[in-house]
Amino acid sequence: MCECCGRPFPAGVTVAAVAGVAAAGATASADTARPLCRLCCDGYYAFDRARSYGLYIDALHHAILLLKYEEVTRLGDRFAARLAELVAREGETLRAAVVVPVPLHPDRQRERGYNQAELIARPLARRLHLKQGACLLVRTKPRPARRVLTRKKHWDSVRGAYATRKGLRVDKLRVLLLDDVLTTGATLDSCARALKRAGAAIMGLTVARVVPGWSPTGPQHPTQQETEAGRRNQQGATSILRG
Ligand SMILES: [Zn+2]
Repeated sequence: MCECCGRPFPAGVTVAAVAGVAAAGATASADTARPLCRLCCDGYYAFDRARSYGLYIDALHHAILLLKYEEVTRLGDRFAARLAELVAREGETLRAAVVVPVPLHPDRQRERGYNQAELIARPLARRLHLKQGACLLVRTKPRPARRVLTRKKHWDSVRGAYATRKGLRVDKLRVLLLDDVLTTGATLDSCARALKRAGAAIMGLTVARVVPGWSPTGPQHPTQQETEAGRRNQQGATSILRG
């Protein structure tokens, strides 16, 4: 798994083959270097770190759709409970002062009546004894009328779509940026860019993550190494629906 964005490495790829070195000029060593994916080696993402509870498949996929479109709001607290455990396990690396949900555009929020990320962020902040910072970030650009299918168009559609309040300064504020699903990382990246301009450090946190090669209805090309971390969490995912 990439130490920075949390992306599982493809099957058969050794840590040595993908190892990046945090400090410029340092000598690469599989023992000492942080394993980073190619994108994180290139400094592609604006967030400092990202972690997800499980894969966007099976029961977890179903549960997220229930929260997002069917208003099964009690799932927000169940997801928050799992994410609180994840944050505790990660320790210092996910230490934060405030939880900020990825905002919806005001038109979209009016239409849906609620923001699913906020339904997770509020109980998560309560469980972690952190502040809830929904007011720190707004979506200024509406999402495209038609669903964006290509990766590039998706990146274009969220680039510059988020902003902080004018003149906001939150120097060195450590933010847990919360969303339901990490797909390409474009949304977290765009939010992180806005918050970073105000001085914050950003740790992305999502309930689920899309891993290429898997579909919402099940694995297409399952490989154990690729999804090892996700699988571990997935075993507990069905209890979200039951519990
Ligand atoms: Zn990475």
